[in-house]
Amino acid sequence: MKKLFVPVLLAFAVAACQRTEAPAAEPEIVEEHYTAADFDSVDKVDFHAHIHARDGEFVDRAREDRFRFVNIATHAADPDEMRTRHETVFTQLQAHPDRVVAVVSFPMAGWDDDDWAERTIRYLDDAFEQGAAGVKVWKNIGMEFRDESGDLVMMDDPGFDPIFAHLVEKGIPVIGHLGEPRECWLPVEEMVIHKGYFSTHPEYHMYLHPEMPSYEDQLAARDGLLKRNPELRFAGAHLASLEWSVDELAAFLDRFPGVMVETAARVPDLQYQSSLDREKVRAFMIEYQDRIAYGTDLTVGPSAATEEAIAAARTRWRSDWRYFATDLPVEVGRLEEPVQGLNLPKTVVDKLYRLNAERFFPDAWGPPAS
Ligand SMILES: [Zn+2]
Repeated sequence: MKKLFVPVLLAFAVAACQRTEAPAAEPEIVEEHYTAADFDSVDKVDFHAHIHARDGEFVDRAREDRFRFVNIATHAADPDEMRTRHETVFTQLQAHPDRVVAVVSFPMAGWDDDDWAERTIRYLDDAFEQGAAGVKVWKNIGMEFRDESGDLVMMDDPGFDPIFAHLVEKGIPVIGHLGEPRECWLPVEEMVIHKGYFSTHPEYHMYLHPEMPSYEDQLAARDGLLKRNPELRFAGAHLASLEWSVDELAAFLDRFPGVMVETAARVPDLQYQSSLDREKVRAFMIEYQDRIAYGTDLTVGPSAATEEAIAAARTRWRSDWRYFATDLPVEVGRLEEPVQGLNLPKTVVDKLYRLNAERFFPDAWGPPAS
């Protein structure tokens, strides 16, 4: 392990200087770091995975990488697809109760009915009885789902209040993917990181749909949800769609001191900011070390080949580890030059990779299956 000695000025050192005797030597704290090889021996959580395999093999293989998972069934407009996603997160939970946390979504169908909230609460309670430990809300709210009068339903709609009040009462946390990366509202030629996704998903490329709510509207609706439900335990997926600016992300975390964020599919956005000002990104990660969890958005479909899926996950995990935990150069797909790793202190890496996820789901990591 490498060790770096960092002198720290303490407030009392200032007071000591005002006395006549010589001040004591400044105390030093030791900033320890992991190496790239430590990846193999450190326990980690991937806070944002979609493992929808029909068997437990992928999670078994990931045991070697010392990864456990927050496994999320995201909303799907197609009810069959939605059912498959939910069945398979429970398949994973049953196979590996100590290695996965199951997070579920709720259907929007019937939103205009008087008993939608009541039915949705029953649906969620049933999922909690099967072991689900969290709820995901997705960008379909705000960008896709419309009520009977044809209006988009936004995340701060009072119609959701009974659901969130119920989740607060039960202590169930929510992961929210709301809005999209800011680049979604830019023309493709101005994008740096998300060109690939939006050129192939024109339906979600909001620059092409000026009649739709703006980036700011989406984030305001998300903030509205948090203001309406101050007790709700909330994690902003994908760096809360503030991936483009650690300053904006810091302001969000300051505005809502109870919430956290996770990094899924937005590490390249941090890396891009690193390429412009590494110290700034590093200082942000250290200052908000209790508020950020590591996630990838890895997806393993019901018929995926485990071998390929685990190989792809390992490439991503190792590259990200190198970026956060070491000062080695890291290749980033969208950038021409490699980016230097942040070399975060071990204590910060442990929070990013495990402790913050464990705290968000304190009771959900069950004992191993017998
Ligand atoms: Zn996802």
